[in-house]
Amino acid sequence: GRAYNRKRGSMKNISVIGSTGSIGRQALEVIGRYPDRFRAVALCANESAELLAAQAGAFRPELAVLRSADKNISLPGVRFACGEEGFEEACAYLAADIVLVAVSGFAGLKAALCALAAGKDVALANKESLVVGGGLVLSLAEKKGARILPVDSEHSAVWQCLHFDRKAPFSRILLTASGGALRDVPIEKLPCVTAKQALCHPNWKMGAKITIDCATMLNKGFEVMEAMHLYGAKLSQIEVLVHRESVVHSMVEFADGAVLAQMGVPSMELPIQLAFTWPERLSCDLPPVDFAKLGALHFEEVDKKRYPCFSLALSCAEKGGTYPCILNAAGEVAVQAFLRGQIKYTQIAEIIESTLSQSPEGSAESYAALAETDSLARARAQTILKGAIA
Ligand code: MG
Repeated sequence: GRAYNRKRGSMKNISVIGSTGSIGRQALEVIGRYPDRFRAVALCANESAELLAAQAGAFRPELAVLRSADKNISLPGVRFACGEEGFEEACAYLAADIVLVAVSGFAGLKAALCALAAGKDVALANKESLVVGGGLVLSLAEKKGARILPVDSEHSAVWQCLHFDRKAPFSRILLTASGGALRDVPIEKLPCVTAKQALCHPNWKMGAKITIDCATMLNKGFEVMEAMHLYGAKLSQIEVLVHRESVVHSMVEFADGAVLAQMGVPSMELPIQLAFTWPERLSCDLPPVDFAKLGALHFEEVDKKRYPCFSLALSCAEKGGTYPCILNAAGEVAVQAFLRGQIKYTQIAEIIESTLSQSPEGSAESYAALAETDSLARARAQTILKGAIA
């Protein structure tokens, strides 16, 4: 009857780009929790054919895409596509109300630009798109009247503190950071840590690249740039605090000195769900924070000696232009090498720093220009990496 009609009226069609990754899988949990409110109309994965097929079987999207593998999935009622064309179609999917961009790395920029060019609201979990091409992404969103809905937990926290208004005034943003898996390892022992150690994040379960970026705090540097773009903040208006408990997901300070914080147990399901339901809040099946058990919450300044990648990121944030793009490319090359056991943990920062110092400034005015800067920086980082291994 009426309840059914009301629910039907608020049905949102969602295209999930990066459905087999950590965020994509959690997004499907959210969609599955409220089948009368959300529908996955398109799913796109990079190369995990088996998981994509299982997801397509369970969620019955109209379109399922495998971007970089040539395998076919046969399911009645589901159209299957491969390659770049399929990827672009899923990003700009006609029937989608919201496109969740949950691919990692530079690839997120193309996904976000495709979706925004089609006038789609973008739930943005990919931070690199704003780091590398924030100017392009924001001006396209503005031009098309499309929304950018933050999914990164810190930026969702800020968004919540600003009552879901990205343009609301504030005096400062206080971004919290866990400090990563190696926060208690003595600095002199950092050269000896293994990828396995660096991958044991104390509070969050995420993909490998971002977990290493949390250990180095390159991730937090990216998030500073992300906050500058999303909320029109100056670098001087953002403070980063190491907060071991990961209960305060970030805070906003206002002109009168009042500070609002968003708290909760560490889970990406809340920011994902909120990007779909805002300003409405629905149950997320998360346990409540047990404040009495927690006792104290701790906040500390960032130790610059422990986190050289964070300092490199801040200097790129200050310089702007293509520096953040070069930083990101060098970071991807260095972290992959560390994950393969080719370099020491402390060489991640060294490779990024050398790549930055050897890369000329380029143009950040178009996707093509950024893609060229990205590939040149990767090539340079690979050369530096080879020298470091030899
Ligand atoms: Mg985050």
